[in-house]
Amino acid sequence: MSIITIESEQLSIDSENFVYSKTSSRPSKSIVNPELYTEYKSIKDIFNFFDDKCDYLLRECLNYVFSNIQKIQEDIFILNENIYKIIQFTDNKFKNLNNSLNDKYENYIILCNDIYTYPKIQYFYILSNYFESINIVMSQIMHYNIIVCNKRNKNLEISFKNSIVKDFGIKVHDYIIKYIYQDNNYFLQDSIDTNNKISNICCNISQISNLNRDIYTVNKYYKAFINKECNIDCNCKSNNIFYSDILECYICEKCLVLTRLFLF
Ligand SMILES: [Zn+2]
Repeated sequence: MSIITIESEQLSIDSENFVYSKTSSRPSKSIVNPELYTEYKSIKDIFNFFDDKCDYLLRECLNYVFSNIQKIQEDIFILNENIYKIIQFTDNKFKNLNNSLNDKYENYIILCNDIYTYPKIQYFYILSNYFESINIVMSQIMHYNIIVCNKRNKNLEISFKNSIVKDFGIKVHDYIIKYIYQDNNYFLQDSIDTNNKISNICCNISQISNLNRDIYTVNKYYKAFINKECNIDCNCKSNNIFYSDILECYICEKCLVLTRLFLF
């Protein structure tokens, strides 16, 4: 999990240098390991711990940056006393995203499932020209990112000839690329491993009831972690301790704390 903060920067952005495309860019090998990506994409049914993944993961990521979170409407949050508008960015149409960021609000959260392509990173970096700061926040649980845009200080007067851009003609700092590369690979590997573990367990009928208990407990643990509900006053009794094959660690089913076993 990383939180990358990009402070406000004066960039010279020349839309004459933009290169357009009809289709979305392919993953860039500087941003994700192509072998892991191909293996991940070949998994038919990616295992998912949440029924409503986006709500939980959004809250998880917001928790890393804001101490006070209030949902006012479906797409409006008050975060540390400032209003933020939520914008979905899943179609790779930068022109639409750019228009949305010129709305009446000062602060925005961009929801972005993955960051595999160079133009996405370029665009998020370019935003530092228009906002006081940008945070790229990645979930610890699943592959999920949000881009927090704090205090717009001028309108995003970027002219687009087309919606899908394949190169914004600007170089992004290496440290940003490096963090995103590490995180992407970590999550792809983790998803591949979890899916392998689960399919191995599914091959053995006697282990299936244990798997259901495991999924149930891990799901409960993640929800408690996100909602900050892990109970710290539990005297974890050994009969409440469950070994999770999925997380490969012990969980107290009562307080949902992971590492208490060391206290015995
Ligand atoms: Zn406990």
